Amino acid sequence: MEAPKQCPYCNQVVVFTSNKEIYGKEYGNGKCYLCRNCKASVGCHDNGKPLGVLATKEMKVLKTACHDLFDIVWKKKILGRSEAYRRMSVLLGIEQNQCHFGYFDIPMLMKAIHIMLNPHWFREVKNN
Ligand SMILES: [Zn+2]
Repeated sequence: MEAPKQCPYCNQVVVFTSNKEIYGKEYGNGKCYLCRNCKASVGCHDNGKPLGVLATKEMKVLKTACHDLFDIVWKKKILGRSEAYRRMSVLLGIEQNQCHFGYFDIPMLMKAIHIMLNPHWFREVKNN
């Protein structure tokens, strides 16, 4: 995933900066990409590559909801983590290597939440 240079939401410049600007103190590797105009942001790997797409406040809320719903399944050992991702990618109709909540836009995040609101999503995989 490429480092964002321009904000896709408000077209302003994106800066690579300390995540203290977002959280008030540094977390993890301490770095992030941030649009200072609309506050869309995304964290990065240690090598500086972004973890996903620049996320707005709304996307962050949905992303957190996705992780909360998804993580239960593998943390409670209902499925292994990679098997949980595999089933989620089938249900979303995307490649498994694209199945990261951090890559999703709002419609995809909503779709993922909708899938996981069915408490049996991790047991049912439609073949088509
Ligand atoms: Zn922006």
